[in-house]
Amino acid sequence: MAKVGFIGLGNMGGGMARNILKAGHDLRVFDLNDQVMSDICAEGATGATSAVDAVAGMDAVITMLPAGKHVKSVYLGDGGLIAAAAPGSIMMDCSTIDVDSARRVVTTATEAGLLMVDAPVSGGVAAAAAGSLTFMVGGTDGAFQAAQPFLDNMGANVIHAGGAGSGQAAKICNNMMLGIQMISVSEAFILAEKLGLEAQKLFDISSKASGQCWSLTSYCPVPGPVPTSPANHDYKAGFAAAMMLKDLRLAQDAAESVGADTPLGSHARDLYEKFSDQCASDMDFSGIIKMLR
Ligand code: NAD
Repeated sequence: MAKVGFIGLGNMGGGMARNILKAGHDLRVFDLNDQVMSDICAEGATGATSAVDAVAGMDAVITMLPAGKHVKSVYLGDGGLIAAAAPGSIMMDCSTIDVDSARRVVTTATEAGLLMVDAPVSGGVAAAAAGSLTFMVGGTDGAFQAAQPFLDNMGANVIHAGGAGSGQAAKICNNMMLGIQMISVSEAFILAEKLGLEAQKLFDISSKASGQCWSLTSYCPVPGPVPTSPANHDYKAGFAAAMMLKDLRLAQDAAESVGADTPLGSHARDLYEKFSDQCASDMDFSGIIKMLR
């Protein structure tokens, strides 16, 4: 069993770190929030006094932080994790961040002789707790092989997407599809309502026809057809609109930086901006049907 340092024990990181503990590893944790630290220490983890203290002497390091600026400030510089990590250790950043920051941090670690991957996840808080996340991994073959056993402890699918930053690229491309598809499914149900077509009938037909997609069959934005979807629970997240907006903004930033033309991705970002301003940004992202209606 390995010595694992884990930094960022929020909604996602808390569940993921517990799965590292369950796998039998020695877990050393750090978060700016004392409460989440003491909760997991009561379950068998050891508390560190700083991020650097959580990685010194560890075989593996996992971070789950809000955004690129947090990841850069924790990893880079003289007082950062890359400077403090044990030679030969594997570092995994599972946060969703911009591709450029991910490339910079992973490349800096690799140049310092460490193994590092960007490994953002698909799946929400429930999947983090259940250990059923999908990891999209960017980095060298050697770094991927070193990371895989730990990612397997926290997820059901671990996929090597390519070199540094490729995990983040896959994540934002996937979520741009998801945001666009949720809007398209919502618009179709609104049109069906106005045409006098029952929602359940549209679901029965389109889930067996070419309109089929995850936003329809697993996360239907109208109550009824998919009992587990947030539409049946007053659009309680789930995957919050604010998170979808974050990912759509990252996708547009990336598109601009490489000159990719993504008109629907851009429009989806604008609609989620409006939705987050007008409605509660903590509402599930499928609640956009209320605004569109
Ligand atoms: P969160 O805000 O609940 O957790 C972030 C944690 O990081 C907090 O506990 C915070 O105190 C801690 N933190 C911030 N800066 C720190 C620092 N410098 N040192 C130590 N700890 C620090 O966020 P979350 O929902 O767990 O999301 C984490 C990441 O996962 C984000 O990048 C998010 O986009 C991504 N993500 C979230 C979901 C979701 O459904 N919540 C799904 C997929 C991906």
